[in-house]
Amino acid sequence: MERRSFSVSLPKNPLITMKVIPGHFTTSHSHLNYYLDLSDLKTNAKMAMDVARELVVPYITTTLLDAIVCIEGTEVIGAFMAEELIKEGTSIINSNREIHVVTPLNNINRKLMFQGNIQELIYNKNVLLLVPSISTGATISSILECMSYYGGKLAGVSALFHAHPEKLDQEVHALFTYEDIPGYEIYNPRDCVLCKDGLKLDAIIIHDGYTKI
Ligand SMILES: [Zn+2]
Repeated sequence: MERRSFSVSLPKNPLITMKVIPGHFTTSHSHLNYYLDLSDLKTNAKMAMDVARELVVPYITTTLLDAIVCIEGTEVIGAFMAEELIKEGTSIINSNREIHVVTPLNNINRKLMFQGNIQELIYNKNVLLLVPSISTGATISSILECMSYYGGKLAGVSALFHAHPEKLDQEVHALFTYEDIPGYEIYNPRDCVLCKDGLKLDAIIIHDGYTKI
């Protein structure tokens, strides 16, 4: 399946590119016909810097922030976002503020949690949530629930990929959407067209990576 992979670039900035692998994938909630490899966006410093510059645009002049909560390996991007946000400049609302870049833990029930010393950086603070990808919205609801449990004030949600922005009440500022990937489909496992065609699953997507079956 990797041999059939192709690249998708951000129209605004073609240097930002992700690898898309066609196949038959499962998450805990759904089946998908594409796996999006976001690892270069998250770990390649030059690319992560460009991604951060795009992602801060909706907030830089308007949104006061105290913390960026980075989910599933997005902390390099989060750190570059903080750097952009605290730059000096007359129209930059967070100039010289303290912005903390934090990462939650996954507890045994796959719920997110913050350790004691981190909780005070969230409670009653303006928090930006940074997630790699949003497909059905189930994961984002669980993250938002966690944020509200720890008393964080949600100032915004950013994502590298958001499958269907129109299907979610929560506003998300995403780099890529399904419109960038022709033919991208998410299926309820019960109605999956690939399963109905007798195609075996290729891999299971866990924590934004995949394991072949
Ligand atoms: Zn299927």
